[in-house]
Amino acid sequence: MTDRIRNYLAATPFEGPRLVVDLDVVRDNYRSFAKALPDTRVFYAVKANPEPQVLQLLAGLGSCFDTASVQEMRMVLAAGATADRISFGNTVKKERDIATARQLGVDLYAVDCVEEVEKIARAAPGAKVFARILCDGSGAEWPLSRKFGCVPEMAVDVLEHAHRLGLIAYGVSFHVGSQQRDPKMWDGALASAATIFRTLAERGIHLSMVNLGGGFPTRYLKKVPGVRSYGEAIFGALRKHFGNRIPETIIEPGRGMVGNAGVIESEVVLISKKSNDESEARWVYLDIGKFGGLAETMDEAIRYPIKTERDGAETVPCVLAGPTCDSADVMYEKVPYELPISLEIGDRVLIEATGAYTTTYSSVAFNGFPPLHTVCI
Ligand SMILES: *Cc1c(COP(=O)(O)O)cnc(C)c1O
Repeated sequence: MTDRIRNYLAATPFEGPRLVVDLDVVRDNYRSFAKALPDTRVFYAVKANPEPQVLQLLAGLGSCFDTASVQEMRMVLAAGATADRISFGNTVKKERDIATARQLGVDLYAVDCVEEVEKIARAAPGAKVFARILCDGSGAEWPLSRKFGCVPEMAVDVLEHAHRLGLIAYGVSFHVGSQQRDPKMWDGALASAATIFRTLAERGIHLSMVNLGGGFPTRYLKKVPGVRSYGEAIFGALRKHFGNRIPETIIEPGRGMVGNAGVIESEVVLISKKSNDESEARWVYLDIGKFGGLAETMDEAIRYPIKTERDGAETVPCVLAGPTCDSADVMYEKVPYELPISLEIGDRVLIEATGAYTTTYSSVAFNGFPPLHTVCI
């Protein structure tokens, strides 16, 4: 929570939940990444927060962009970045979208199977491709599981196939899982990447790049290591596995770029109990929930810091829920949230570190509630 956000909220009353993003924090985050990983290009993961002002700021700072759709590419181009600063990082793409990306000038594509390589060879002949390998996501609070990537042995075949079809077998990528709290988790993936580089070199195919993915955390309730620790651990792992032939590297931070830049202001709509039993938990219903932008509370994975005007008073465990008529719209119940006993209906609460993965997850009009209102300052 910055003074700029605090002052903005006080000076500009608004009905309904809103996200306020402090662009100064995004700028600081960009510079911290550039400093912690000086030889690594930054590809901001657009899905984390595609607000035009965020994209314009990062484009102006020299960032590149990881996109997952033609629409995201158009947003990045509209923000002033050129196509040579865009990657099509989604491993699941329609062939006609690859063709459109190619027309827009995009030359860098992610793949994790030969089927996708064949689409790219047809729709974007001669393009650069990198193969994504599986990562188990351990140590991450929002793991990306097995949906993306293939085993390293298969990545060798995928890249060899790309080479044979006239594409440029450019490199290897992975994602260690989002909100990855352990900087050492890049080590195993880099060991696999180095093996793929060596195996292909023996077959006369020389890769150039390792895409280190995202995963850099935002501080929620628990402490996380600083970006410098990640830079040091990653550089150490690169030295260990690639010796003095360190390849070109890129990172794709999403959460770590914008998470701590945003605060959601919300209102308590109802506080109630389900019975007169004294031991029964209190239910606190806010005007924002899973469908208003807080989807990452799914399985209670991400626990946001919540501030009230009554902090410091005695607290009680509360079940925290959203305002919609879907029973899935309960954010914290298995592990209830401690909130002040004096909290009242109509109170404002501030949900901190909500700059990433909130606006993009908010539904269009579930129960008629509008998408999350966003302001960049
Ligand atoms: C979502 C995503 C990212 C960003 O991940 P964070 O954990 O938010 O940094 C990076 N790369 C790819 C391919 C992604 O899908």
